[in-house]
Amino acid sequence: METREVSVPGYERVVWGVEGASGYHGIVVIHSTALGPAVGGTRYWKYPGEAAALTDGLRLARGMTYKNALAGLPCGGGKSIILRDGCLEREKVFRAHGRLVATCAGKYITGEDVGTSPADMEFIHKETQHVAGLQGKSGDPSPHTARGVFRATQAAAQFHWRSDDLRNKTVAIQGCGHVGYYLAGEFHRAGAKLIVADMDLGRVDRVAREFDATAVTPEKIYSVSADIFAPCALGGILNDQTIPLLQVEIVAGAANNQLLEPEHGYLLQQRGIVYAPDYAANAGGVINGTCIELLGWDAKRAQDKVEAIYDTLLKIFEISAREQIPTSRAADCLAEERLTQSVMAKI
Ligand code: NAD
Repeated sequence: METREVSVPGYERVVWGVEGASGYHGIVVIHSTALGPAVGGTRYWKYPGEAAALTDGLRLARGMTYKNALAGLPCGGGKSIILRDGCLEREKVFRAHGRLVATCAGKYITGEDVGTSPADMEFIHKETQHVAGLQGKSGDPSPHTARGVFRATQAAAQFHWRSDDLRNKTVAIQGCGHVGYYLAGEFHRAGAKLIVADMDLGRVDRVAREFDATAVTPEKIYSVSADIFAPCALGGILNDQTIPLLQVEIVAGAANNQLLEPEHGYLLQQRGIVYAPDYAANAGGVINGTCIELLGWDAKRAQDKVEAIYDTLLKIFEISAREQIPTSRAADCLAEERLTQSVMAKI
């Protein structure tokens, strides 16, 4: 395999790999190892070219540094991408990627991300031990992600209503997929009323049936009158068009990159809506997987760490109130503070 190092200011290592025999074309980005080995999944996606893949890899790797820091994990941030191009033999491509990951000698640990599965991680594992998410290990992350989002919502309720009891609160859930389904169960058991939407009628029917939820169309979910809105489908859904429609007091969900642009955090603040920053609220899956597979913790200890998302969110809300900044900005500040502390401790 031919490898090519690229120097990018602010990043510890960016390396491309190209292999003619397998058709492999990929990149590993290590943003920071200040807190520990850089952890972040492998994305298998079709990009218009190298520049687009690099831009995405840099953004995602940096995001992982912040997410892991905020989650209190002894891990830095990284990400890798395999450029999807035609119909390549999966084993060959992922094994080639494993060889590129191996060149990082443990400074980068990969796992599943968009477009990949536990079976692909097994291929990577044939070339390097620095991979998590293998079959039969920590399992489906979705119930843990949902639990973390539930705890984040309780923290938002505690901050906003001075009580984290969600009985009789109405929650509007967008997306009844892997996380949305488990999250609906959490709210149902807590005594909340549910309004749900999904493009997939089978999924929305299941949640309506099992958790006594009212189904509405995907267009309607933004404007229903509720206490809490839980985005569990796509990114970019908090924007100029949707924020004015919201009839809720709290937004807390699992979807990544919910704010279309950073200024939408300010717009939510102006509207007096308490927003649980996505990357703080949806860390339950990564916390559980990392604690069990990389740190060797037992399930109970890992679960306690997921529960602690509540405390992290309370800190974020306190910073936001004290500094008069949006919660999205407060989350970044808390992550940066944790990174700085760890660097200072090593000097
Ligand atoms: P999923 O694909 O299982 O579910 C998403 C659901 O959203 C699907 O049922 C889909 O039909 C629905 N949907 C799509 N567009 C919609 C729309 N406009 N209106 C209503 N519903 C719509 O995905 P998931 O694993 O449940 O993840 C949900 C979100 O949470 C994603 O943004 C994902 O990146 C993020 N996330 C997931 C995890 C995890 O553990 N699975 C962890 C962190 C973040």
